[in-house]
Amino acid sequence: IETLLEKADIVEIISEYLPLRQAGQNFKAVCPFHHEKTPSFMVNPQKQIFHCFGCGAGGDVIEFVMKYEKLAFGEAIEFLAGKYSLVVPRDKDSGSAGESSLAYKLYEIHAQALGFYEDILKKNALGKTGREYLAQRGIAKEIADLLHIGFAPAGWSSFLDYAKQGKRAQEGDLVTAGLVIKNEKGSSYDRFRERLIFPIFDQKNRPIAFGGRTVENHDPKYLNSPETPIYSKGKHLYGLNFSKHAIVNEKAVLIVE
Ligand code: ZN
Repeated sequence: IETLLEKADIVEIISEYLPLRQAGQNFKAVCPFHHEKTPSFMVNPQKQIFHCFGCGAGGDVIEFVMKYEKLAFGEAIEFLAGKYSLVVPRDKDSGSAGESSLAYKLYEIHAQALGFYEDILKKNALGKTGREYLAQRGIAKEIADLLHIGFAPAGWSSFLDYAKQGKRAQEGDLVTAGLVIKNEKGSSYDRFRERLIFPIFDQKNRPIAFGGRTVENHDPKYLNSPETPIYSKGKHLYGLNFSKHAIVNEKAVLIVE
């Protein structure tokens, strides 16, 4: 925890969530934990703490992440450690307390796939049909960025080839992740082809599955990841990671199918 606190600068972390303005030695912002119009939320870089003079919320960077991301202490540690590529030591006897190494592999594969699909949509010639489709549907670039929309190119093995290069992942794990399908003859191919990709995130903002919308009127119109050890359709709700703060603040939620 000490190593983590040395690396995780509170100003750097909170800046990812709120626009901080310098005010003398401190930084201030409109408090994310209560409704206000003039900023009474202060961040002190010397003491590495935050404090709100309006609602009394305060603490160090771990407490900020717990409160903002709605995580338990251990989860907040994992969340921050992940940002700085630190490995959280585990007690081998802790049994089911930690997530399995298979789960970690699957999170890693989804993070790689997300980067792959987003890069294709944003800057690859293979993403042209995806970009045209987004423009045609009036989806602004800001929205596409916010939702991390990507594009799976045409062809049978674009992602599979990418994942195999540099040994990013093993084929069996890609099949378990639901991103690659192995048929009865033993040949493997990408599940998502020529589709706009909508990542589904868990509450810790980790991509855990994808929804793919055809851009060429192929059947089915929408194709989703299957259930996997990290993705359960009955447990995860699309968009909850983006909306949970607003839901808590408004004490209301509108669910649309
Ligand atoms: Zn406050």
